[in-house]
Amino acid sequence: STRVLTGITTSGTPHLGNYVGAIRPAVAASRTPGVESFYFLADLHALIKVTEPERVQRSTLEIAATWLACGLEPDKVWFYRQSEIVEIPELAWFLTCVAGKGILNRAHAYKAAVDKNRAEGEDEDAAINAGLFMYPVLMAADILVFNAHQVPVGRDQIQHIEMARDFAQRFNHLYGEHFVLPEALIEEHVATLPGLDGRKMSKSYDNTIPLFAPRETLKKLIYSIVTDSRAPGEAKDADASNVFQLYQAFASGAETERMRQAFADGIAWGEAKQALFERIDAEISPLRERYEALMAKPAEIEAILRDGAQRVRRTHGMAFMQSLRSAVGLRDLS
Ligand code: ATP
Repeated sequence: STRVLTGITTSGTPHLGNYVGAIRPAVAASRTPGVESFYFLADLHALIKVTEPERVQRSTLEIAATWLACGLEPDKVWFYRQSEIVEIPELAWFLTCVAGKGILNRAHAYKAAVDKNRAEGEDEDAAINAGLFMYPVLMAADILVFNAHQVPVGRDQIQHIEMARDFAQRFNHLYGEHFVLPEALIEEHVATLPGLDGRKMSKSYDNTIPLFAPRETLKKLIYSIVTDSRAPGEAKDADASNVFQLYQAFASGAETERMRQAFADGIAWGEAKQALFERIDAEISPLRERYEALMAKPAEIEAILRDGAQRVRRTHGMAFMQSLRSAVGLRDLS
């Protein structure tokens, strides 16, 4: 079977972008025969950006409940919290010792932080923690610890998968063929959703529409999406519009074409936003009910995560890690 792996960072409340870009396609893919799915809450990654413990805890619960509300079946897939798989940070160290520092210097996220410092006239590494620099190594460990074959990613993540392949290849070259080289599964048809301000919707930008915001909040947020000042009756460019891009992610092909025509015919922004709200709410409402029921029982979510971590370690992680320890010359602890 093919192993497919998807993680979401526990850095905040899950949003429409996480749903359209990761959760919805991943849950659909888990029902494909011959696919073994791994879903994890990337809480070690969250520590790179979030230093509020309550935020990490709340986000973990929210994201877990979101996966479950959206149809993930915890007894048919591997579903776990990254930090409970103690093999991951251990493997990350092994990979750190084969990773070229020069390769990490070129990672997009690190380079962007350096460029920002330079532009602001700061020392280039000012306020950059080593976690951000090492992030691609931890991500490689997430993938390689379970020898996942395929990682569905947006274009911005391709580089990280290439790095994981590079570290795996070096390790294999030095210590024997332990790792399958993972592949990026580029989701061409999955859109990157814009946030309220037009930038990519992201927990880090504070520009998100939370997936399970109460109905009234959802409506208010949708009405606050930034648009241009074209008046009702004036033709609007659908492809340049955030409202249209969001609509497209939730509508059928036929509905999308009708909306495109409505934009050309000069639909009023208020009317377009109302249609967007109704479309999203229709899809989300039943999921929101399940989500709220799950959030009322945090102990059950905890139990599912603990059980998931134990099972995936016993089946896949522990024995493999011991074989890697032996391979590099450390004692096998089993
Ligand atoms: P952070 O700001 O903490 O990185 P994020 O909200 O940008 O958070 P991640 O947790 O890093 O998202 O990503 C989880 C998954 O959600 C990834 O598969 C990512 O591609 C997807 N995703 C995130 N934002 C969007 C978006 N705006 N549109 C589509 N997919 C998205």
